[in-house]
Amino acid sequence: MTAGQSFAVGVDIGGTNMSAAVVQASDGAVVAHETIATLSIQGADDGMRRLLACIDRVVQRAPVGWDAIAGIGVGCTGPLDIARGLIQNPFTLPGWDDLPIVPMLAAAFDKPVLLLNDAHAAALGEHQIGAGRGTQHMIYLTISTGIGSGLILDGRLYQGRRGLAGEVGHHAIALDGIPCYCGRHGCWEMYASGPAIATRAQTRVTPDSPLWAEAAGQPETITARMVGAAAQRGDALAIELLHETGMYIGVGIANLINTLAPEMVVLGGGVMQSHTFLLPALHATIQQQHYAEHAAEVHIVLAQLGLHAGVIGAAFGILRMLSHIL
Ligand SMILES: [Zn+2]
Repeated sequence: MTAGQSFAVGVDIGGTNMSAAVVQASDGAVVAHETIATLSIQGADDGMRRLLACIDRVVQRAPVGWDAIAGIGVGCTGPLDIARGLIQNPFTLPGWDDLPIVPMLAAAFDKPVLLLNDAHAAALGEHQIGAGRGTQHMIYLTISTGIGSGLILDGRLYQGRRGLAGEVGHHAIALDGIPCYCGRHGCWEMYASGPAIATRAQTRVTPDSPLWAEAAGQPETITARMVGAAAQRGDALAIELLHETGMYIGVGIANLINTLAPEMVVLGGGVMQSHTFLLPALHATIQQQHYAEHAAEVHIVLAQLGLHAGVIGAAFGILRMLSHIL
């Protein structure tokens, strides 16, 4: 990073959409932004051509040029090989197997490039300019289709061996529990994710419930978002389902608090939009399940950066790498 390079490009790649943004280093302000469809199934050549064009357009639209940009940070849904800069995610990015995204972006734009797990990137964003500002020990959780996490320990992002730390969605909370797509049983996200809420609702809804009407008599179409909306309208089953989910989320958080002794847990992801109904049971469960008394002092807060957390965090990732503090 040289003098005058006070911006970075942040890229956030998910199974459905990918975004690029130009982010100001001093305050994390997003000065230009664009989202396009990922469509990984169309293959790596097509995907990279569209992503490169998207990054180009975003920088053209920004009030600064490439000269002011220190590098490019990429947050991507894993598994990844962060050491070699490869995407290796056949689950949500089929068609991009072993895609060498870091060398490709570095060659295309002649800038330093960093690849991070997307939850790790979002954690960095929340830590730098979001809910976790000023903390030394922070757990970021994203609870949506799955559950991911990013760990800030001793003020730095903890990535673990090969960047694989924080796959908390697959820590088991019941050894003989619900089978998970990962091949094991009782994984946390089988109880506490959006699909888990939807599955329980589909199983337990009855024709007299407003949720049944919402789903036009087709329970298999019920989603977590519909459960959240029904709870807002006072539907008893929906409220009960979210209460249970808050309990399950709380069990996992208590395990993490007992393991890592954070100052703060930051909760993001679509499921947390129902926080009004989740948080009471979540707090109560943490108080029951914690080991040391310090758990009462852990701040449990909502994420602040919303949809931009990924691009902001990825941009801070490359900026911190270039300052040797990642
Ligand atoms: Zn699992």
